Amino acid sequence: MTRKVFWEDPYSTQIETRVISVNDNDITVEETIFYALAGGQESDHGTIGNSRVLQARKEGKEIVYTLENGHGLKPGDRVRMTIDWERRYRLMRLHFAAEIVLELVYQHLRSIKKIGAHVAQDKARIDFEWSENISKMFPVIQEEARNIVEANQEIVSAFSDAGAEERYWEIGEFARVPCGGTHLRKTGEIGEIELKRKNPGKGKERIEIFVCEHSG
Ligand SMILES: [Zn+2]
Repeated sequence: MTRKVFWEDPYSTQIETRVISVNDNDITVEETIFYALAGGQESDHGTIGNSRVLQARKEGKEIVYTLENGHGLKPGDRVRMTIDWERRYRLMRLHFAAEIVLELVYQHLRSIKKIGAHVAQDKARIDFEWSENISKMFPVIQEEARNIVEANQEIVSAFSDAGAEERYWEIGEFARVPCGGTHLRKTGEIGEIELKRKNPGKGKERIEIFVCEHSG
């Protein structure tokens, strides 16, 4: 089973590891910092050995990486794994901005239902089943989110069940939420959050979430 270093150390950008299995261009490795799409957070970009990773996917608890043709790797080989940190850090900031916005929406609108979420490099979005215009909530959500960011609170990330690889994040009194994504250490890293409303269909509301360009 691949050891997921992206949980222990989500700030690691490069590791040395070992190839475990090779099946054409699909490989598995001993340890990984390379996140594979889950919980709406997109996969990382990067390289293993001299090859670009074309796809990272979860298969149960395992992560399979598809490399370019001609990677030349075989089981047992030592390899360097590198991720595109600029992309990952934006994904982490947008992911956590979305976590805070979602939690605030739940705290204010008890009966709302989340029906989807996605975190890409340019923006995050959360979809809800809700018959009113969600942007009415934006002033209060934006202010409370800003307070949390400015307080630069510590974000704890840990296992609730290590065997099942179930994880959560927690901020003091604010919330404890199950999530297997990669999380920031401090809320201040998010920076300024901007919200936009979309109406993707009758009875549906979408919040798009942006963080400003500055990097940490
Ligand atoms: Zn999360």
